[in-house]
Amino acid sequence: MDCIFCKIIDGSIPSYKIFENKDVLCFLDIKPDSISHTLVIPKKHIKDVYEIDNETLSNVYDAAKIVISKIDKIFKPDGYRLVQNNGIVQEVKHYHLHIIPIYNDNDNDFTVEEVYKKLSK
Ligand code: AMP
Ligand code: ZN
Repeated sequence: MDCIFCKIIDGSIPSYKIFENKDVLCFLDIKPDSISHTLVIPKKHIKDVYEIDNETLSNVYDAAKIVISKIDKIFKPDGYRLVQNNGIVQEVKHYHLHIIPIYNDNDNDFTVEEVYKKLSK
């Protein structure tokens, strides 16, 4: 199947992984909306909210909480937006939860690579 996120899971496309377990993978969004914008994906190919089962959803949110606690420690955002697009607004057709930190102070500017280095210390 020609799915970019399945290729990230099998390692044929590189990514900035910040957490994974047997069920899910969390990596930095390559075009971040904010510092440490992260995507959480199930390791099995599931398309969207219509296809995902409750157990996988729970695994996705458990991992999201782990990622949020990591981001909290390093970047101390003021809030988070959790977004999951479907249908016409879903660009990549492999379920992914966006973790988008919100900052009152937008002065900091880090590249995705710099964010990765800080989060993986
Ligand atoms: P969506 O509109 O919810 O399908 O968003 C897809 C997201 O995947 C966008 O925010 C992209 O920047 C992100 N994205 C696409 N390709 C990659 C990649 N190879 N590595 C990391 N993020 C990606
Ligand atoms: Zn896939």
